[in-house]
Amino acid sequence: MQNFLSRSHSLGKYLGRYLGKLSCGQQRSHQKQPINFRLLFLAVVSIASSTAIATPTAQANRLETFVYDLNDSKIEFSVKNDIEPKGVVINNPTRIVIDLPGLVYQGPTVRRRVGRGVQAVRVGQVDANTTRMVVELSPDVTLNPRDLRLKSQKPGQWTMQLPQNIAAIDLNSVSNFVLPITGAVISSGFGWRVHPVTGERKLHKGVDFAAPTGTPIFAAADGVVTDAGWTDGGYGNIVELRHEDGSVTLYAHTNRVYVSKGQAVNRGQAIAEVGSTGQSTGPHLHFEVQPDGKTAVDPMDYLQLRQVTLDLASNSFKD
Ligand SMILES: [Zn+2]
Repeated sequence: MQNFLSRSHSLGKYLGRYLGKLSCGQQRSHQKQPINFRLLFLAVVSIASSTAIATPTAQANRLETFVYDLNDSKIEFSVKNDIEPKGVVINNPTRIVIDLPGLVYQGPTVRRRVGRGVQAVRVGQVDANTTRMVVELSPDVTLNPRDLRLKSQKPGQWTMQLPQNIAAIDLNSVSNFVLPITGAVISSGFGWRVHPVTGERKLHKGVDFAAPTGTPIFAAADGVVTDAGWTDGGYGNIVELRHEDGSVTLYAHTNRVYVSKGQAVNRGQAIAEVGSTGQSTGPHLHFEVQPDGKTAVDPMDYLQLRQVTLDLASNSFKD
């Protein structure tokens, strides 16, 4: 797992270098595996028997990266040892399924919401020897399998171009909030979960971006500061902004707040820095979007996304 983490590529706004403690979200457990021993053992077995066993290569091979680029409507993934992926299109609901035979994905399914055209991407294991990647599409998208190209220019690196009309849907559906942080890993998404501190099943009303303490937090849009500083509800030091259309964005667990109540701020202005104040298990930004100024919704639907990188290591997005 550690090895995997350190090999993570550097693409994407979401894939940060920071891979330490996670969020108000997740306590990560590191499982130590006797990898060297296992490999040695398997090597001996394969020498003793001349028949090829799938397992040794499968253990060694793995999916290294998975990126969905919204600008180009393109999927990119890389595997350690090259294999021949198999792609199919399935209807009701529309989805592209890419199987990677002989490749073991260890860990729970990772899923990330994308937009309206491509609704989500997920990666998981389908059987003992196959990793499956699924691109979930809007029901109103019709796909002709002949329009899909799965290409490899370098060994182990694959791309698949989706039809440009899907890119058009996705890019038109995003709203005008910019990412409030750069170089961070999403450590916990919006939705129901067991709270890492209280143990209660509770709606997680925002998205957590794990980043080191002191990382600047930017206003997602122009607005006015409606709250700034300490709160008792578990959010620690917060900044709350009200925007022109009545929507509200909230930035919680901050270490330091740079703005004060009543102040006008511009999109992209630094308003606070990442911390771990309130109910939090590690430094991160908890970011909330309330379109009507009251009810929190999934911020991923309101952010200007250009690229979606599955954080395969943190296992933060489970089905
Ligand atoms: Zn949170």
